[in-house]
Amino acid sequence: MQVLKFGGSSVADAANISNVVKIVRESVKKDRTILVASAIGGCTDKLIEIGKLAAMQDESYNKLIDKLEERHQKIIWELLPIDYQHALSSKTKNTFNQLREICKGVFYLKELSNSSLDLIMSFGEVLSTRIISERFSSMGINNFWADAREIIKTEPGSSGNVVIKQISYSNIKKTLSSNRQRLIIVPGFIASDILKRTTTLGRGGSDYTAALLAEATDARELQIWSDVNGMMTADPRIVPEAITIRHISYKEAQELSHFGAKVIYPPTIQPAVSKGIPIVVKNTFDPE
Ligand code: ASP
Ligand code: MG
Repeated sequence: MQVLKFGGSSVADAANISNVVKIVRESVKKDRTILVASAIGGCTDKLIEIGKLAAMQDESYNKLIDKLEERHQKIIWELLPIDYQHALSSKTKNTFNQLREICKGVFYLKELSNSSLDLIMSFGEVLSTRIISERFSSMGINNFWADAREIIKTEPGSSGNVVIKQISYSNIKKTLSSNRQRLIIVPGFIASDILKRTTTLGRGGSDYTAALLAEATDARELQIWSDVNGMMTADPRIVPEAITIRHISYKEAQELSHFGAKVIYPPTIQPAVSKGIPIVVKNTFDPE
């Protein structure tokens, strides 16, 4: 098993998603693969803004939902052949209508609880991974879309939601043994609690989803696909002289990520350490 996680910029539009699909199509030839993806670039920030505006009874949140829906529908039109477009497009429309209903509730209540915000944020990964899954299907590549909300279970902790590993890992194993597809697609970031309420794993949490899946399945490798050339000596957007660190220990990687290296979400390292799974950080836009 190998787990490949693609971040928001890797799946930001139709061209990028088709690039991701190309990478994964080749990789799947090697090994059974779990593909974890984030929401399309900028989507989670928008969803948070939508929730906050709704709670302040600022009706402009409706326009933002419309725009976000247009962005997803455009990707569907650009990415999928006509005979695949219709079903996903109407499913996406329904999903956005659900989001509108939830936001209407927040609007009337004038309050955005953590739990409502988690629910609102969860739409991004559901939408993006459904599109990716359908793209594979349209190319004749059999895959299984596994709903992370039914697999990864969390409980409240002192600083955010904590994953209940025992239940989650047993769910992961069950899902993978009852669905024998070679490619499994999982929305990152989202989970649910014991009462089946949607939860999230914190901003940047898709990396962690991927690491949990890797640990539960004893994966050979965990690949984090981003938009920079691996773990670097500094943020290349701020320090152009930054260079790639070819190899780094788990411990140092953990320290760097704790001190702000955005390339890996800090909790991601621990599940990999526990099974000695190598983490490979790759650039979707410069795969070699
Ligand atoms: N979409 C979520 C975020 O923006 C999770 C992730 O991308 O890892 O924080
Ligand atoms: Mg990230």
